[in-house]
Amino acid sequence: MKDYEIIEKIREFFEENYELMRLEGGHAITEDIKREALTQVLYYFTKLKDVATRVTDTEVKLTLPDQVTPKGRNFTIEGIVDIVRDDNETWMYDIKTHDLEYINSNKELYAKQLNVYAHIWQELRGQQLDKTAIISTAFPYSLKQAHLLNDQFRIQHELSRWSPLVDLEFNQQEVQSTIRDFAEVVDSIEDKKFQPAPVEVLNNTMEGTKALFATRVCRNCDARFSCSSYREYATHSGKGERGNFKKYFDDFGSDTDKEEWINANLGATRNGIFDGEE
Ligand code: SF4
Repeated sequence: MKDYEIIEKIREFFEENYELMRLEGGHAITEDIKREALTQVLYYFTKLKDVATRVTDTEVKLTLPDQVTPKGRNFTIEGIVDIVRDDNETWMYDIKTHDLEYINSNKELYAKQLNVYAHIWQELRGQQLDKTAIISTAFPYSLKQAHLLNDQFRIQHELSRWSPLVDLEFNQQEVQSTIRDFAEVVDSIEDKKFQPAPVEVLNNTMEGTKALFATRVCRNCDARFSCSSYREYATHSGKGERGNFKKYFDDFGSDTDKEEWINANLGATRNGIFDGEE
């Protein structure tokens, strides 16, 4: 299949997927955001064409059943990966929406998860595996800016600098300790121990980035309005006046976020998310 035919197919699938998600979830996005998402997908394809066209198994479900927690609960570990096989090698890819900066600074976290998947693939399925890697789907800010300015020279430059593939060594000796970590999390969830991160963590920058935990993680957390740590962070951020507490209640994102949210909802109503009721 020629590149232009693949791109046409991507556009087609993108529209179909969006429509399906809109109908299933009842959520819509603005035309601007939708165009931006498609642009990201197309750049992503341009950059990873080699991997994308060589993938032999997509969305392979890996399962490690019959695990037992320290408190005797049974659980199963599941994961989804993509596999590329050629005559010489087999690669396993785990796709993440996280940005490269964060992945590169926290490789050991990602390696742990991939070690478990590698273990399932090799030991339980008896399949060959030579390399594992993470694919970061986050769109680099510099490339986004170049695209917005329609600066072809800069676009090419930023594309050449962008390397969304992060190779990771896999080490089977670490598998048991990772499974134990999972098991402890299962026990904590079942025991209803949902302690949020202490406020000191929220006020710290995240490893390998310049962003605070509170802005990078909590801003996207649906539980923030009932989270004691976030409440404390919001109350004491800035100059620390008590009046700042109001910001916590009013924190619905930037003006642009709010406008997009309103437009998306108006659009959804106009387009009829309740089509069936007309
Ligand atoms: S707001 Fe969410 S992510 Fe942040 S500390 Fe609270 S529970 Fe954790």
